[in-house]
Amino acid sequence: MIVAIDGPAGAGKSTIAKITAQKMGFLYIDTGAMYRALTLKVLESKVDIHNSQRIIELALITSIDLVNEPDGTLKVFLDGRDVSSAIRQPFITKVVSDIAKIKEVREVMVKLQRRMGKTRDSILDGRDIGTVVFPDADKKFFIDANPEERVKRRHKELIGLGQDVSRDDVKADLTNRDKIDTTREVAPLKKADDAIYIDTTDLSINQVVNKVMGYLR
Ligand code: C5P
Repeated sequence: MIVAIDGPAGAGKSTIAKITAQKMGFLYIDTGAMYRALTLKVLESKVDIHNSQRIIELALITSIDLVNEPDGTLKVFLDGRDVSSAIRQPFITKVVSDIAKIKEVREVMVKLQRRMGKTRDSILDGRDIGTVVFPDADKKFFIDANPEERVKRRHKELIGLGQDVSRDDVKADLTNRDKIDTTREVAPLKKADDAIYIDTTDLSINQVVNKVMGYLR
């Protein structure tokens, strides 16, 4: 079974996907983490983020692995190195959408995501899972929340990770990424016609997980 969860940044997709995957015994595939890992490699390799050709070449020789730990956490490996924390740093978040909009980069990632998803029952979260990666997914969800609530949640999450960011910074980041993600030419963020729309603004994590699990059962 393939479950697709899409939606804008800060809506709670990954939290919901992770908990649901653990409860169902499914593989959790955080596709945003894959774009983040490649972004880390691009920056570490000192490649100009506007040099698409060089970025595509890097994407083709990069190995990205996701490992679901028994306690529900996700480990992200870039060329065999654990980069789970490194990819959450603000300098990655700032440019990841510019790298994710490159067509050939997406082709490499989508191929990998399909390969991972076909190994067993999986829940994938991202922006284009229900529209492009698995248009035939068994169940699709579009998880949303109003912009103010998304800023609040993301700010809390980053503070929890020990990052010294202001609400205004978070707001600027979400606005910027939403704009790039929804207006890019290739696989823009949008709800698949057959996705179930869930507005999580006034719902707790548990309430959303229960809703999703209800549909899956
Ligand atoms: O999910 P997360 O916010 O970590 O994703 C980081 C960025 O990766 C997004 O803002 C988006 O630009 C890109 N992304 C994407 N397609 C996906 C998942 C993420 O373009 N399926």
